[in-house]
Amino acid sequence: MRCILPVMENLDQMASEGSDRLYLDWNATAPTRTCAKDVWIDCLEDGWANANSLHQEGKRASARLDAARQTLAETTNTQPGEWVFTSGATESIHAALYGAANARGGKRRIVTSQGEHACTRAVLADLEEQGYEIHEVGLSRSGQWDPFEVLLACDPALTVCATLIWANNETGAVSPVEEIAVQLRKRRIPLHLDAVQVPGRIPMDLGALESGMVSISGHKFGAPKGIGALHVRRGTAWAPWMLGGEQERSRRAGTSNVAGAVAMAAAFAEAARVDFSAIASRRDRFESALQSAVPGILVLGQGTPRLPNTSALSVEGVESSPLLLRLDDRGIAVSSGSACTSGRTDPSPVLLAMGLTPAQAHATIRVSIGETTTDADLDRLVAVLAQEIPALR
Ligand code: PLP
Repeated sequence: MRCILPVMENLDQMASEGSDRLYLDWNATAPTRTCAKDVWIDCLEDGWANANSLHQEGKRASARLDAARQTLAETTNTQPGEWVFTSGATESIHAALYGAANARGGKRRIVTSQGEHACTRAVLADLEEQGYEIHEVGLSRSGQWDPFEVLLACDPALTVCATLIWANNETGAVSPVEEIAVQLRKRRIPLHLDAVQVPGRIPMDLGALESGMVSISGHKFGAPKGIGALHVRRGTAWAPWMLGGEQERSRRAGTSNVAGAVAMAAAFAEAARVDFSAIASRRDRFESALQSAVPGILVLGQGTPRLPNTSALSVEGVESSPLLLRLDDRGIAVSSGSACTSGRTDPSPVLLAMGLTPAQAHATIRVSIGETTTDADLDRLVAVLAQEIPALR
């Protein structure tokens, strides 16, 4: 199909150059799943009306939105009415934190970790300016926060909520969420989890987890961008944040992105069926092949709980930016730290919090794979790294 936007004409050229490209940056955005694309197109053709309109067309759209909510609920063992669709995780996290703050008049402390995504840190910085006390717990050398430290900081008389990253986007470190969720629920302190990197990588059973709020983002597991969700468990102290309409049962104003929601639900259900251990085996095989081929590679969090698809590699004596450019020239897409902070020259605060030196942090690249990545793909990456790293040293 021809692009109709004039500015997009050179994309046709880029597409023809891209046939043997190797995409290893799934934590930035996962490739679109066919099931998501199919239901998205179908919905644009047949469910395009405003889901809040009372006519037949509106009802058709609204039925699709209900089906999407039902799918999220069934996939996670939760209730459909507990899911609020948003434009993505940045919005979900804003809604969770401002919503918790608005609902907890009088309490002023928010407990968090040094491993949070930039959007969480930005909301907390704003709340700090408004007079909230932000208590940050540190990270272990392998990137996890310590639930015991979180609990110590969570005085029920003072604490609005705790907000914690479940699985880190830069390192893949998975922190122990189960016990802290139980303990905070007992103390009636809402726990918000940034679960953006969880779907499609590790199981996500919210029926068995006593979290209060959970944020997800469609494009991290194969849905289009511009759609995400916030799970707010019934009984959680939370007030709507985006105001001005009755959509999402008055919990999130703005015309619903129905096609995005159904595409996200389809991708979410499929991502839950991925063989996580097969991905972990491929990743482990890649890491040992690389460490045998090239000296001076530190694999962050190796041997500790981490996402099966993520390798954060600190490459001694090499800056990540020129290495990424050389890989890109050779047809391979990986990233350094999180995509949201690439383009900045400051070392990642998450890597520094894990005790890396600024030089080690600057030398860190992230390889993140998915279920369509093969051993042959990763062998190709090892071979290219084995040429490019010595050339840059
Ligand atoms: N949280 C984590 C852990 C992420 O990886 C990201 C995206 O990189 C976000 C939040 C923000 O998600 P989005 O850009 O989809 O709003």
